[in-house]
Amino acid sequence: MSSAVEQRRRLVTAIPGPRSVAMQARKVATVAAGVGTGLPVYIERAAGGVLVDVDGNHLIDFGSGIAVTTVGSSAPRVVERVQAQVEEFTHTCFMVTPYEEYLAVCEKLAALTPGTHDKRSALFNSGAEAVENAVKIARVFTGRTAVVAFDHAYHGRTNLTMALTAKNMPYKQGFGPFASEVYRVPMAYPYRWVGERTRVADEAFEAFTSQVHAQVGEENVAAVIIEPIQGEGGFIVPPKGWLKRVADWCREHGIVFIADEIQTGFCRTGDWFACDHEGVVPDLITTAKGIAGGLPLAAVTGRAEIMDAVHAGGLGGTYGGNPVACAAALGAIETMEAEDLCGRAREVEALFTERLRQLAEKFDVIGEIRGRGAMLAVELVAGGGDESPNPALTSRVSAFCHQQGLVTLTAGTYGNVLRFLPPLAISDDLLHEGLDILEQAFVANA
Ligand SMILES: *Cc1c(COP(=O)(O)O)cnc(C)c1O
Repeated sequence: MSSAVEQRRRLVTAIPGPRSVAMQARKVATVAAGVGTGLPVYIERAAGGVLVDVDGNHLIDFGSGIAVTTVGSSAPRVVERVQAQVEEFTHTCFMVTPYEEYLAVCEKLAALTPGTHDKRSALFNSGAEAVENAVKIARVFTGRTAVVAFDHAYHGRTNLTMALTAKNMPYKQGFGPFASEVYRVPMAYPYRWVGERTRVADEAFEAFTSQVHAQVGEENVAAVIIEPIQGEGGFIVPPKGWLKRVADWCREHGIVFIADEIQTGFCRTGDWFACDHEGVVPDLITTAKGIAGGLPLAAVTGRAEIMDAVHAGGLGGTYGGNPVACAAALGAIETMEAEDLCGRAREVEALFTERLRQLAEKFDVIGEIRGRGAMLAVELVAGGGDESPNPALTSRVSAFCHQQGLVTLTAGTYGNVLRFLPPLAISDDLLHEGLDILEQAFVANA
């Protein structure tokens, strides 16, 4: 871990401090208003579990820049490989004159993603771009057009991925018309299932298959896309075995099963991929976020016969698989292997779950604790037996944490989920200190 950043919380000004306030005024004057900032403190340095702002405040990071800096924000192996690569060359475009780093990342993806079948990968710049390409590939392979996505899904902000994303505000409002041939079906969301909660797996599966049959026709469906644990939707974990049923049903009908592991992948849930936990082998898997320690890189990896169905020149992009981003990915993956970060994610889960359970015993506004590995959340409700969503309390708790120098994120279709995505390079001491602040936030606000 970088010695340049002391691994402790320390506040030397109010949050945000004067230099951040000044920068935020420049932001308002120069950056499009549509680009929001959740916590407007401007960061100067970061490492391990700490972000240092321009006023010298040391903040505890429970967000990892939205599940990106799993290995930390300046992991030594990432820094080293990136520096070396920048000195060699920065870009050629893989489609013009290729380079080895791209191959090495694809080889790693083939080895680490679920299943031992023959695989191919293609690299891109962002998660949304990977999802778009997974759909393109599935359509060519099947010769079909329809794509099925789930309630509460998040797949990105480009035109096709907005169509796949469920939530209107803020992702879709005013941005239509959206891509066609996208169909939405119910998600197995145990806590808010409208039917019999104990029968959510069966009822949600029945709703999914019967709606596809009646409204789309199985023979028209190119792909079903799902996040094995939904991210922006509120860390929704379907019942064990449900994902496998969906995948098996897809296989039965010649439909490509796409696992969007952009948020769940690369050790985040305590396995390399969330599908591993369920023994599910997707046909295609999309990855991004944690893959490259903070540099922009994304991938589609899948069965060779599906991936190779696309004509030469049909996939690509100027920057996809940029050599510096590939070098960062190789450094990040090496870190995950050398430091057993999957194991570390399971330790984080144990520590967090115990503390969150204690909190839930004291505060009945915590409706549910859920998630896996270092991807955990609490869903906040009215309390006193009333399970209606409590987005106002969620905002207050989050704002309190920010004031105390703890970076937290919210999520959920109803804006009532506090989610925790700490970097796996964070110490137990910082995790406990962050959780102490969270507890104070409930004491002060609930
Ligand atoms: C973040 C995310 C995306 C979009 O990735 P970008 O890099 O922001 O385009 C897609 N799917 C899931 C599950 C995500 O969490």
